[in-house]
Amino acid sequence: MTAQSMEELVSLAKRRGFIFQSSDIYGGLQGVYDYGPLGVELKNNLKAAWWRAMVYERDDIEGLDAAILTNPTTLRHSGHEATFTDPLVDCRTCKSRWRADHLEGNTCPGCNSEDLTEPRPFNLMFKTQVGPVQDDDGNFAYLRPETAQAIFTNFKNVVDSTSPKLPFGIAQIGKAFRNEITPRNFIFRVREFEQMELEFFVMAGEDEEWHKTWVETRLAWWAEQGVNSDNLELYHVPADELAHYSKATVDVMYRFPHGVEELEGIANRTDFDLGSHTKNQGDYDITSKVEPNTDSNAKLVMQDLENKRWHIPYVIEPSAGVDRGVLAIMNEAYKVETLENGSERTVMSFKPHLAPIKVAILPLKRNHEGIVSKAKAIKKDLMKLGLGRIFYEDTGNIGKGYRRHDEVGTPLCVTVDFQTVEEDDTVTIRNRDTMAQERIAVSELPAYVRSFMQG
Ligand code: ATP
Repeated sequence: MTAQSMEELVSLAKRRGFIFQSSDIYGGLQGVYDYGPLGVELKNNLKAAWWRAMVYERDDIEGLDAAILTNPTTLRHSGHEATFTDPLVDCRTCKSRWRADHLEGNTCPGCNSEDLTEPRPFNLMFKTQVGPVQDDDGNFAYLRPETAQAIFTNFKNVVDSTSPKLPFGIAQIGKAFRNEITPRNFIFRVREFEQMELEFFVMAGEDEEWHKTWVETRLAWWAEQGVNSDNLELYHVPADELAHYSKATVDVMYRFPHGVEELEGIANRTDFDLGSHTKNQGDYDITSKVEPNTDSNAKLVMQDLENKRWHIPYVIEPSAGVDRGVLAIMNEAYKVETLENGSERTVMSFKPHLAPIKVAILPLKRNHEGIVSKAKAIKKDLMKLGLGRIFYEDTGNIGKGYRRHDEVGTPLCVTVDFQTVEEDDTVTIRNRDTMAQERIAVSELPAYVRSFMQG
């Protein structure tokens, strides 16, 4: 089951501390959100799952964490200064602004007027001043509109320091900024967001096969995060909609509460990126159409070990949005169940590795010395497993505690009671999904929890 509407998710996200409107006490900032105590855990867990699949579990991908502030020359040679635009129209009647390709017909969604200007390109990059002198002649930087460019500009650094052989990749997770004309749909389209991007470098000729492989790999990864494959579909971008540098792009589309839209794009970008940023472009057979570059001081090339020829690798780019991922995962996890007694419970059925809180420890009495210190000792013990957040929940009302933890998606609750401290050193362990409760020995808890979390 998923949420019936975006409002349900927005409301739960605020009520339980997942996501808040940014600068809310001053009226907010449009298209900018903050992640609260549980949101930051969920988001970190999603990023960690991606990093593990991309970097730790493979031997052909290295990580990178590059700066957000970007030299304008990078974004000139990447093509962003000239072409990273959306078509903007103004409504002459109500003075609102819209993205032309998001309009239905030629009507202003604000006032239904048809008196709109012709679309004109609007560059989505944010500029910011660098250093104390205020002018427009070079003392500025861009906030990166994607994390990818710094992977290309660091290509030689990574190759020189790690000596990889093709095919190999560089992975990065980080913030990106786009001055979206109309941010909307909660955290789906925002002005500050995070991306998880891989640039996977391959030999020309092997690119099509690798592109297919990455589409399959990424689909399987989303399924492992708990996204139902019925809610995912692939969109093979038709030739006339492709970006000029792309030989093929497949978008992973997800059924968000507001409609089916892009969750991740997987593009075959050929040799465009390294070809655009390399020095001595004329020395190599660059197949894509690149602008001349006399600024770069590095050759972004690899040597073919068989014929000793230096060449520019092709690149396959799976690029996923963290925030869109969080929204999809929350939507998938959201369930309202009617219980046997007729009451309702809301459950976030996150996969254990994504759950913001792994285990909640509930003392039956919050002022009983023996129970409290036992509960705290159990928390300390489980913390040693390094699984993430173990939460000491001392509301003193077990029923309420269970409901709260169902709603934030805590897979296991452990209740410490009189029997624990006075009789047999056992606790009740309650399963979020089945609501089944069983008693187990405290000494067996760590092994139980570890194997449960591994699924
Ligand atoms: P869209 O067509 O929806 O604007 P895009 O094709 O411009 O997206 P890409 O440039 O391919 O997006 O960026 C890769 C990923 O980054 C997207 O699949 C998406 O998950 C994420 N992303 C891009 N723009 C935003 C945004 N404004 N807010 C949140 N996530 C975004």
